Amino acid sequence: MSEPRYWREIPQRYRLEAGRCTKCGKVHFPPRLVCASCGGRTFDKYILPDEGRIVTYTIIRVPPAPFKDQAPFAIGIIELMDGVRLMAQIADCDFKELDIGKKVRVEFRKIQEEGKAGILQYGYKFVLA
Ligand SMILES: [Zn+2]
Repeated sequence: MSEPRYWREIPQRYRLEAGRCTKCGKVHFPPRLVCASCGGRTFDKYILPDEGRIVTYTIIRVPPAPFKDQAPFAIGIIELMDGVRLMAQIADCDFKELDIGKKVRVEFRKIQEEGKAGILQYGYKFVLA
């Protein structure tokens, strides 16, 4: 990915941008080209709420290579305030504090550094609210 394109993409990276089907209203995150519910192909931009609750979680002790130095870490399924569910890392927590139903909020964090240029990749994680 070239640097200019990367910088243009930053605004989208700093919010949870989903697509809402204009036919049936189903919200897809990440956005899709075709609606899984009705097959519709037109979507409105939809900004997801930044708070939700833990539906379920697990502790990853042996992660894929790019995330090796972050292990162990927690991954959870988060249900946002509007009912949309997504999977994400739950950061900065004592694993003993994690529990189903606990409130979390999204934060945008460095995920990893890429290549010699040291381009930082940002993504979303959740922290206990
Ligand atoms: Zn649809």
